[in-house]
Amino acid sequence: TMGTIALDAAGNLSGMCTTSGMAFKLRGRLGDSPLIGAGLFVDGDIGAVTCSGQGEEVIRMAGSHTVVELMRQGLTPAEACKRAIERIVKRDPEKAKTFQVGFIALNKAGDVGAYAVQPGFSYTLTNAEQNGVLIKSLSYF
Ligand code: ASP
Repeated sequence: TMGTIALDAAGNLSGMCTTSGMAFKLRGRLGDSPLIGAGLFVDGDIGAVTCSGQGEEVIRMAGSHTVVELMRQGLTPAEACKRAIERIVKRDPEKAKTFQVGFIALNKAGDVGAYAVQPGFSYTLTNAEQNGVLIKSLSYF
């Protein structure tokens, strides 16, 4: 999945995501990316979230929407991503060793955070201070 979340100078939040799908997927499988609330969710008052990885795990808990709601409750983007990943892992810790899910989140204040199940999830950050800096996400395992 490729996802982008943004906050413009006027304070408007936006986001997009697109996927090439999963290898060997079942014919007709949608994945999380085209489902608003799963692969992408933007609430202009709170924040924007997108994710990559095993779409079924994300759909099951309306992942991007969940992360936005955690930010609404006061968590930072990093904390909200971590909490959502912990929920995915706790559902089946053994199975979670076999797949990746990673969330990135941005709030209305411009704070950015990410968290993933496995190492290897990264994103680039561009803002007034940095131009396309590659950041490796923390992960559960
Ligand atoms: N999230 C995508 C899917 O489940 C896979 C990906 O990360 O590209 O379809």
